[in-house]
Amino acid sequence: MPAIPSHAGVVIIGGGIVGCSVAYHLAKRGCGDVLLLERKRLTCGTTWHAAGLVGQLRATQNLTRLAQYTTQLYEGLERETGQATGFRQVGSIAVAASEARFEELKRGASMARCFGLEVQVLSPGAARERWPLLSTDGLVGAVFLPKDGQTNPVDTTQALARGARRGGVRIVEDVRVTGIRSDRGRVTGVATDSGEVRADVVVNCAGMWAREVAGWANASVPLHAAEHFYIVTQPIRELASGLPILRDADACSYFKEDAGKLLVGWFEPRAKPWGERGIPESFAFDQLPADLGHIEPLIAQAMHRVPVLESAGVQVFFNGPESFTPDDRYLLGEVPELRGLYVAAGFNSIGIQSAGGAGKVLADWIVDGHPPFDLWDVDIRRCVPFQRNKRYLRDRTVETLGLLYAMHWPFRQPETARGVRKSALHDRLAAAGACFGEVAGFERANWFAAAGTEPRYEYRYGRQNWFEHSAAEHRAVREDVALFDQSSFAKFVLKGADAAAVLGRICANEVDVPIGKVVYTQWLNERGGIEADLTVTRESEDAYLIVTSCATQVRDFNWLCRSVPDTARAVAVDVSSGYAVLGLMGPRSRELLATLSDADLSTAGFPFATSQIIDLGYARVRASRITYVGELGYELYIPTEFAPSVYDEIVAAGPTFGLRLAGYHALNSLRMEKAYRHWGHDISDEDTPLEAGLHFAIAWKKAGGFVGREALERQREAGLRRRLVAVALGRTDRMLYHNEPIWRNGELVGRISSAMFGHTVGAPLGLGYLANGGAPVTPEWIAAGHYEVEVADERIPARVSLQPFYDPASERVKQ
Ligand SMILES: Cc1cc2nc3c(=O)[nH]c(=O)nc-3n(C[C@H](O)[C@H](O)[C@H](O)COP(=O)(O)OP(=O)(O)OC[C@H]3O[C@@H](n4cnc5c(N)ncnc54)[C@H](O)[C@@H]3O)c2cc1C
Repeated sequence: MPAIPSHAGVVIIGGGIVGCSVAYHLAKRGCGDVLLLERKRLTCGTTWHAAGLVGQLRATQNLTRLAQYTTQLYEGLERETGQATGFRQVGSIAVAASEARFEELKRGASMARCFGLEVQVLSPGAARERWPLLSTDGLVGAVFLPKDGQTNPVDTTQALARGARRGGVRIVEDVRVTGIRSDRGRVTGVATDSGEVRADVVVNCAGMWAREVAGWANASVPLHAAEHFYIVTQPIRELASGLPILRDADACSYFKEDAGKLLVGWFEPRAKPWGERGIPESFAFDQLPADLGHIEPLIAQAMHRVPVLESAGVQVFFNGPESFTPDDRYLLGEVPELRGLYVAAGFNSIGIQSAGGAGKVLADWIVDGHPPFDLWDVDIRRCVPFQRNKRYLRDRTVETLGLLYAMHWPFRQPETARGVRKSALHDRLAAAGACFGEVAGFERANWFAAAGTEPRYEYRYGRQNWFEHSAAEHRAVREDVALFDQSSFAKFVLKGADAAAVLGRICANEVDVPIGKVVYTQWLNERGGIEADLTVTRESEDAYLIVTSCATQVRDFNWLCRSVPDTARAVAVDVSSGYAVLGLMGPRSRELLATLSDADLSTAGFPFATSQIIDLGYARVRASRITYVGELGYELYIPTEFAPSVYDEIVAAGPTFGLRLAGYHALNSLRMEKAYRHWGHDISDEDTPLEAGLHFAIAWKKAGGFVGREALERQREAGLRRRLVAVALGRTDRMLYHNEPIWRNGELVGRISSAMFGHTVGAPLGLGYLANGGAPVTPEWIAAGHYEVEVADERIPARVSLQPFYDPASERVKQ
């Protein structure tokens, strides 16, 4: 049995490329007291058989930053460690066989520019010049990324391991971790088949075993393995050496030249989940049985694009397992269930190209106690507990592998494992024509199909089939009244004699307010970054209702719980499932509500930003005068079992007032006109309220201060280097989604962080941060610029404003 130490600062479970990268980067940060335990041999899980493609362009800025860093790291790793990696910067070409795919690629190219990636848009002929065996039949265009590359995954892992060892990391093979030890909510070590190891931090890099490993600590790491296929041909005489990686997503195929042969792999639309009954303990350097029936149609598609394959012999049919997550993004960070337990797993077939960046930021996270920049896209806290359900994961995995190469349509919804979390009003909304979208498993009405039309998405980059339906919902909110089911909101109660004091420290705004006051506030970290964006309602002297978004339920509750000192007399409870929420919004909402309630709804009796428990029909509900759409309106918090009857009362009273049901697409359009920020897009843990223009929600002088105040004070003195603005595109035939570059006087100054068409303003709208090359961003500098937004490689004039385009003084809200 290998000897292992009885204590280490950090124990890493798993010696694939990810575990070795975390070890390497911890060593780089000077954290040498690291023990990496591998149950068999390094790389024996998934890493050894990866195809080794190293691309840089990902769906979002920060994921692209991470992949970009990986490429830079691998480029120099051999020089640094003396261990060959096989890394070659051959570039990559992605081809498009439809106009829509070409638009997707060009939008990606525009986004790449924001991040300083070199990218060229090519004609089919120019693509063929770079890849002479390519058939251009049916091709519309292509993009070329010259700095993409390929690497040998085993050698690259060994190089990372060597670098880690040099930095003092101990790597021990043939030791299986069998349990995670903890005490009072903190990890204390691991059990292994070679004895116990005490540790302050444990990092779960166990690849497709990571769900099971996390389960030992009752933590949720939702991933599932699927079979993944490629072939390697016999040597092909005509094949030039050093060809770029070729991707033909429309044919689900990728092609890599290696030593005179072609490796051809696929991301087919319907994948084969694997390991439903658990991953065999004996698995090491294993392959799964070849399934020729499954890959035959895929081979035919590949042959169409690269006809030389028709005559090439096949040397290897490869089938190996890889882990996939419900949203195709990997899982990174400290798990909410146990302090000190981190995870880096679920790499959805891009673990080689992600390992460098993921290892670096996780090491920073562990050493510094917080992520180095906004990592919400991959943060484990976006996952909700039910998602570790095995049947859910298996069913979703059928779809997720193929989504890698499917069209990344705006608003695309998953098709598998749906209908998991439903509002109490779901069936009523469905009967009324709702088309649902999913967030964290919650089914939410995105739009309502008019009578005679199907509530079904028809995706495209231009206006989609729901555009006019949603526009009508939008108008109802601006002109009459509409009803939103917002039951997916997360709701917490903080109760106890110290609740006001505890919450006062967390909130940047003043929350020691009269009972019945609703406060919009941010929770900040010590750096002044926005950890959460929510409302707090004082329910009584010692109780607060905290309302936040569905997507951040786990994260925000975790932040709250961790912010309550052990000695404080305050307890936090997640009451999300206990309340349905209806948003009754629009200038006629007061009139309508008055027919159902005898409460004093006048401006004086029930002013903006206050909350009361009122009679409504036969029920008692909490009505809060607050809005995310910029009109007079009420959020109604209804004990769940009363929701159907309250809903029925409102809908029955509705026709007189022009009431319409409205969905989240309309909500998004309305909030965009008011430039209401959305956490996760427009604001994150690396943006401060000053940069985000949320000065009005900072209580600078409140007694006791608040977390993050000192950082904000420093920033206020130094001046703002970036600022969030509202953007309106000068053309209505192009849509903004997010990540489009913003140009000022011909210079790249920012990108769109979120966007939607504004039906009242009559333009595609977005929000985005502008930077002035490190100099202060002043209102004068903003006003003096001439702006363009780049959409799919084309620059379009745009207006930019620090104020919302709709009702900047919020007069309509406060009436
Ligand atoms: C066919 C195929 C082709 C691919 N091609 C590419 C590509 O071209 N580019 C790309 O970026 N990615 C590619 N991938 C994906 C890539 O291989 C993976 O994402 C990556 O290898 C995951 O690395 P990992 O370290 O997370 O997992 P693994 O390599 O599986 O490492 C996990 C390790 O943990 C160990 N372990 C598990 N449980 C324990 C325990 N209890 N105690 C101790 N050790 C434990 C395992 O033995 C294993 O070695 C491909 C995958 C497949 C299947």
